[in-house]
Amino acid sequence: VLSMTAQVLQIIRRAGSPLSKAEIATQTGISLSAVSDHIERLLVQNIIVASNIGVSSGGRKPKQYSLNAGFGCILSVEMGTAHAQVALTDFDCRILFMKTSSIRIDEGPEAVLNHIYTMVKQLMEDNGIEKVSVKGIGMGIPGPVEFSTGRPISPPIMPGWDGYPIKSFWSAFFECPCYVDNDVNNMALGEYSKGLSFGTNNMIYVKVGTGIGSGLIYDGRLYRGATGGAGDIGHFDVGSPVMCWCGNKGCLEAAAGGKAIVTKAQEMALAGKSEYLLQIVQEKGTVGVEHIEAGLLRLDPVSIELVRESGSAIGRVLAAIVNFSNPSLISIGGRVSEFGDLFLAAIRQSVYHRSLPLATRNLVINKSVLGSSAGVIGGAFMTIDQLIIQATDEKVETFPI
Ligand SMILES: [Zn+2]
Repeated sequence: VLSMTAQVLQIIRRAGSPLSKAEIATQTGISLSAVSDHIERLLVQNIIVASNIGVSSGGRKPKQYSLNAGFGCILSVEMGTAHAQVALTDFDCRILFMKTSSIRIDEGPEAVLNHIYTMVKQLMEDNGIEKVSVKGIGMGIPGPVEFSTGRPISPPIMPGWDGYPIKSFWSAFFECPCYVDNDVNNMALGEYSKGLSFGTNNMIYVKVGTGIGSGLIYDGRLYRGATGGAGDIGHFDVGSPVMCWCGNKGCLEAAAGGKAIVTKAQEMALAGKSEYLLQIVQEKGTVGVEHIEAGLLRLDPVSIELVRESGSAIGRVLAAIVNFSNPSLISIGGRVSEFGDLFLAAIRQSVYHRSLPLATRNLVINKSVLGSSAGVIGGAFMTIDQLIIQATDEKVETFPI
């Protein structure tokens, strides 16, 4: 359980705009004088700041309080299978500096993490950031994570990473705490907290990249499930005849993910179904997602049909999830979401067609607002959340609330 000071801090930081003491008292249910004590503690520690810009209901303007974005930096790392993004953010999760580099996740944890650390060191040196100003490290990885220990659990596309102590790697270089979660969970949290979430408390973020995954926000909290595996929609059975890498047939990911789309495009090209795609195969050897994207603009019928089929299959799975969990926002991110309106329209049509009216009455389905930055922004948000929780539990020196 959070201390009341930490609860007041959480309310201030999640508000999105400055709050008065009266507003905080209403939200916490504690007295105005108690709120004043907690505000005083937070002000002394410099983690919140006061301003006088509030709208008054007559008389003197009330002071308002917001998070001190300049309290320190968060190092946020988003690791994919083929690339890594490292970012330094402020305490409001705004990206200050960022760097992206290619990696190969199958080179194993030591090689990949050392490469990422080199990127981090460079980014800090280039921008004059001292280690002491980094208050926490957050990392997103493309596989299941046991959140309490930060260890990957049998990650299928990360050979050599099973059980690897990622937190210990970082503690050799930094004194601040480190937290690790699944990449899509971080993206969901980023989109929810800093994207355009329309004030919803129930949201599903879907990443459609090479594979397909989702992150769930229930009642304003990220839902990780019993062992951290919640949201893994990639292996829902959509009845397709295609074999999935997981050993089953019919998985959504194997039917509708980015990899599935390009594989089918290649087959269609070689079968003579699309002049445009055949030309790509002849010139480039293989079809990539960027060629499908270009195909949509050129009105290549096969590209259009493949993207429509993908959206439709994803929509069928989402319809079941919508009926079951009744979110008010579905945010679609990942490389394939950049295909644009056609893809989104196919998802929407499929969801609205198959969901119950009550479940879709207030449902909005949109493209992710944060795009490829969702992961690092969410990683920073998650880290500050954990710093606040841990500070009250263990009285961490660097963050004494
Ligand atoms: Zn599968």
